[in-house]
Amino acid sequence: MLLTNYHTHCEYCDGAGMPEDYIEVALEKGFDALGFSSHAPIPFEKDWTVSEEELPDYLDLIDRLKEKYKDRIEVYKGLEIDYLKGISGPSSEKFASLKLDYAIGSVHMMPVRNSDKFLAIDGPVKDLQELLKNTYDGSMELLSKGYFQLMQEMLQNHKFDILGHFDLMKKRNKNNLLFDEESPWYRNHVIETLDTLAGTDVILEVNTGGLSRGATDTIYPSPWILKAAQEKNIPLMLNADAHNKKHIDFYYREALSIIKECGYRELYSLYGGKWVTSSIEL
Ligand SMILES: [Zn+2]
Ligand SMILES: [Zn+2]
Repeated sequence: MLLTNYHTHCEYCDGAGMPEDYIEVALEKGFDALGFSSHAPIPFEKDWTVSEEELPDYLDLIDRLKEKYKDRIEVYKGLEIDYLKGISGPSSEKFASLKLDYAIGSVHMMPVRNSDKFLAIDGPVKDLQELLKNTYDGSMELLSKGYFQLMQEMLQNHKFDILGHFDLMKKRNKNNLLFDEESPWYRNHVIETLDTLAGTDVILEVNTGGLSRGATDTIYPSPWILKAAQEKNIPLMLNADAHNKKHIDFYYREALSIIKECGYRELYSLYGGKWVTSSIEL
């Protein structure tokens, strides 16, 4: 099977080390392709995105590395682009002109009621608590509804290739701290969103980044969601969401066996400039 990862952050955004360091590790590990997906700039000050000023450098550098390593590994140029309701998203004009090889569409931030502020659901716990209190009347059910609605809007109104960390809203829910994933309302929000996803050609990712950073006990999305996705024939890929070169294949072996248990037999990769499938091998 093709060994690949397209969800990689380096020091241009909130990762550690330069892209070339990651490529060297990918070569050691026998990767077939490695894609870079810095967090795209957002229109307010944030320390976890690549800055508007540095974006051209980042894109140029990946182009140069692509050329430099072309005989040894395929290198791809991408961005992880936020859906910011009413402001921007993966197919906003400013990104469409960048000639990316691919884009990951992600919901990290949710609008705060009666304000022009956004708060991250995967950032400090206090941000999530503030959002819960100020915008969703303390109800995780309403917050979940809001989160999955944003994802559905992004899927319906934007073009992109990969859906980032489907159930990121569970990041701060270790040991069911905030809600029970088995709640009927949560399951409904998830299934509704999978139905929306199934009507697009966007690829769902299994993302091991919550595990490598110690935030979650399992992959994004949780195995029961993966099973439901498989039943709906939703295309799947495996990504690490690496913020450190050591993590480009974090938990891959375990994730592959979970994916197989959920009924998937093949995974998507960008290879030879096209989206192709290869059979899962354990
Ligand atoms: Zn992300
Ligand atoms: Zn990411």
